[in-house]
Amino acid sequence: MDRCSFCGREKKDTNLLIAGISGHICDRCIEQAYTIVQEELGSKGEFDLGQIKLLKPKEIMSFLNLYVVGQSEAKKYISVAVYNHYKRLMQTDFDDDVEIEKSNIILVGETGTGKTLLARTIARMLHVPFTIVDATVLTEAGYVGEDIESVLTRLLQAADYNVEAAEKGIVFIDEIDKIARKSDNPSITRDVSGEGVQQGLLKLLEGSIVNVPPQGGRKHPDQKMIPVDTKNILFICGGAFDGIERKIASRLNTQVVGYNAAKETDRIDKDNMLQYIAPQDLKSFGLIPEIIGRLPVLTYLDPLDRKVLKQILTEPKNAITKQYEKLFKMDGVKLTWDSKVLDYIVDKAVEFKLGARGLRSICEAVMIDVMFDLPSSEDKKDVNIGLKYAKEKLEKSNLKRLKAA
Ligand code: ADP
Repeated sequence: MDRCSFCGREKKDTNLLIAGISGHICDRCIEQAYTIVQEELGSKGEFDLGQIKLLKPKEIMSFLNLYVVGQSEAKKYISVAVYNHYKRLMQTDFDDDVEIEKSNIILVGETGTGKTLLARTIARMLHVPFTIVDATVLTEAGYVGEDIESVLTRLLQAADYNVEAAEKGIVFIDEIDKIARKSDNPSITRDVSGEGVQQGLLKLLEGSIVNVPPQGGRKHPDQKMIPVDTKNILFICGGAFDGIERKIASRLNTQVVGYNAAKETDRIDKDNMLQYIAPQDLKSFGLIPEIIGRLPVLTYLDPLDRKVLKQILTEPKNAITKQYEKLFKMDGVKLTWDSKVLDYIVDKAVEFKLGARGLRSICEAVMIDVMFDLPSSEDKKDVNIGLKYAKEKLEKSNLKRLKAA
């Protein structure tokens, strides 16, 4: 009679009995064994730093290049910061009193220039827990919105509640500019939305033990808090800082007044003021000095010109045109585009001031009919999108809606 070699149950008492070379195992024992395996390996699992290969900054940059066009300055800073983050986590030599401190990053760039994309791309290659949070939802404790600690709740969730792993993670805080103080002069306004949140955030950035509600929010008042040490968590912040160009310009103007003022102003590239950004501009914008001090790596993203937009459309690993080509290929159809169509799509994105985000909506408007008709057509021929067709489709679509988007 067949029995489970682990628990001894007879075949008739099991749901399933699997035969091995010299024994059997029943469904219950399989489940139990699986739980044990999970418990043993799960705690190390995905985020075991011992397992990872340390990518050098240039290798990180090459990876970013596959997905993000241009923005070499920001890529360089991020690559170095991530590399150093790993090195800091791996440091074993604590005897010499030299402790490597973390260098949190702040990225300044117009909306739609690739800040979030950079963060997401980094996340693809990381072996530490990573999360993206939006600063606009953060408020001080007691106000409507999420408490600052919820930032760490997300990280804990990304780490599968492995606290040790979360304490080595990376957090991307988007729209950091939205928690700026509305006025540069602290004595004029004390707006709760801005400064209080910044003070709260400071606590996380500096490195301290924070009690984190495991489920986030205030819906579970009885939940047991989990203490998380933020000392080794790397924070990358991003924001558009609308209007900061004016602060940069006025600072540059006052600086260049002098005997060689004319010469200096000649050299200023007015179309890309962000490249001159300095910490004091963030202060003028309304970030408190303590926060700025805790974000020592300040870098910028370039505005996207026509050439870059066209590259974005076609070149990255998952470029928009490649995505459509793949969709059509799944129907056995080869999709091609006239090069003039691509220029036309870029022109429209510029005209509607939609930036890279607009490329997708414009492509959708052009492609919707053919995507609707093709799958049911009897003889599927290869498709080439010509300029006349593209213009026709885009004009037919609700252009106003695109503009407003
Ligand atoms: P931001 O966070 O700066 O507002 P995003 O990173 O969300 O902008 O960019 C919006 C979209 O535009 C992205 O999903 C991406 O498809 C595209 N995009 C923007 N900048 C780039 C870039 N430099 N390279 C490739 N794609 C980009």
